[in-house]
Amino acid sequence: MKYDVIVVGSGYAGSVTAHKFAQDGKKVLIIERRDHIGGNMYDYIDENGVNYHKYGPHIFHTNSDNVVEFLSQFTKWYPYEHRVLGKINNQFVPIPFNLKSIEMLFEEDKAERLKKILIDTYGMETKVPILELRKNDDDEIKELAEFIYEKVFLYYTMKQWDLSPEEIDPAVTGRVPVHISYDDRYFQDKFQNMPKDGYTKIFERMLNHENIDILLNTDRKDLVTIDLENKQILYKGEVFDGKLVYTGAIDELFDYHLGKLPYRSLDFVIETHDDYFQGSGTVNYNTPKEEDAFTRITEYKHMMNNPKLEKTTIAVEYSYPYDIDAEKGNIPYYPIFTDEIKNRYDEYVKLTKEFNNLHLIGRLAQFRYYNMDGIVEAALKEYENIKFK
Ligand SMILES: Cc1cc2nc3c(=O)[nH]c(=O)nc-3n(C[C@H](O)[C@H](O)[C@H](O)COP(=O)(O)OP(=O)(O)OC[C@H]3O[C@@H](n4cnc5c(N)ncnc54)[C@H](O)[C@@H]3O)c2cc1C
Repeated sequence: MKYDVIVVGSGYAGSVTAHKFAQDGKKVLIIERRDHIGGNMYDYIDENGVNYHKYGPHIFHTNSDNVVEFLSQFTKWYPYEHRVLGKINNQFVPIPFNLKSIEMLFEEDKAERLKKILIDTYGMETKVPILELRKNDDDEIKELAEFIYEKVFLYYTMKQWDLSPEEIDPAVTGRVPVHISYDDRYFQDKFQNMPKDGYTKIFERMLNHENIDILLNTDRKDLVTIDLENKQILYKGEVFDGKLVYTGAIDELFDYHLGKLPYRSLDFVIETHDDYFQGSGTVNYNTPKEEDAFTRITEYKHMMNNPKLEKTTIAVEYSYPYDIDAEKGNIPYYPIFTDEIKNRYDEYVKLTKEFNNLHLIGRLAQFRYYNMDGIVEAALKEYENIKFK
């Protein structure tokens, strides 16, 4: 078979692009190193009957009609609005921090005063960064800003990124918001729904096309190599003149030629319990690591459509440095940005541009965080850009 397009990776970036090319009559080969399609969206029904998300909790939310219309070809939906609680002073309060959180954590008179000043100064349904709260004339509001900084942001961030307080960027700190609202949903997007049969089914349907072949358990390196000297792509040792759409890590593609790009990783410890374990889909442990070593616990049953199950499955989430050879922390999850690293990434992008049939798209290839709707939108756009090239 002669392929017009080779796609490395079967997450949203690879699958959306493969689907579009296949519909356009092009022969597509997908190479996926895992034993399943779907990338980090992969989910399955576990022994408790729970729809478990293997690579961490994924909640679909968007304001993009375009993305909803595209994905709705492959799934029906059921409504789900995600709520997150945070462990603060041994209570579980709504996150992002809002008027309900204030009521739960402060005695009545003080809570009323704080709420009144916040509403009078900033108005209802606004998100105010703590940098703004710190500028308020009222001492209690300034104090509230410090409270939110420490109890919502500091310990969680230290655990997630393994940073000391001094290493945390003040620009990021200042953006932590208080939500002046009683709306305790984690997202406010207009479309908040989950796929009726899970995420994996979306990918099965998207890739079920006569023009698409899929090779699982196959690393790109086994079939596709990069000839840096002649700026050529080789498939099974021969020059490939079709398009290569690569959605894996950009540094890995070039054999770390310009150095590695760093990531944080995660590890999930799965437990089974009776009935329900906690009050919402996700509970953040905004506590020092000496108190709770993990960052959050996700209970997937909350995200299902009215399940009648005796047992529940939870995932206790730990943060790790990324190391491809480590036992835990061997999946790259969150890119770590510094100026030096951004420059290194830019150099890799320059290298990519020297190949006229190499196209990079996706969270790993572009070394950036994408939400699901963002990557679907980006892949649709990239397809339009490259289809005639
Ligand atoms: C913990 C976590 C939670 C998230 N929660 C949400 C959420 O609630 N809502 C939301 O909208 N977004 C969420 N996201 C973002 C979402 O996961 C991404 O937008 C999406 O997975 C990006 O898709 P992708 O195709 O770019 O990457 P991926 O899904 O990672 O797919 C890349 C694929 O390429 C394959 N691959 C890589 N290298 C090779 C190689 N050399 N050879 C063969 N195959 C290779 C990989 O195995 C993988 O299957 C979350 C992300 C994380 C990390």
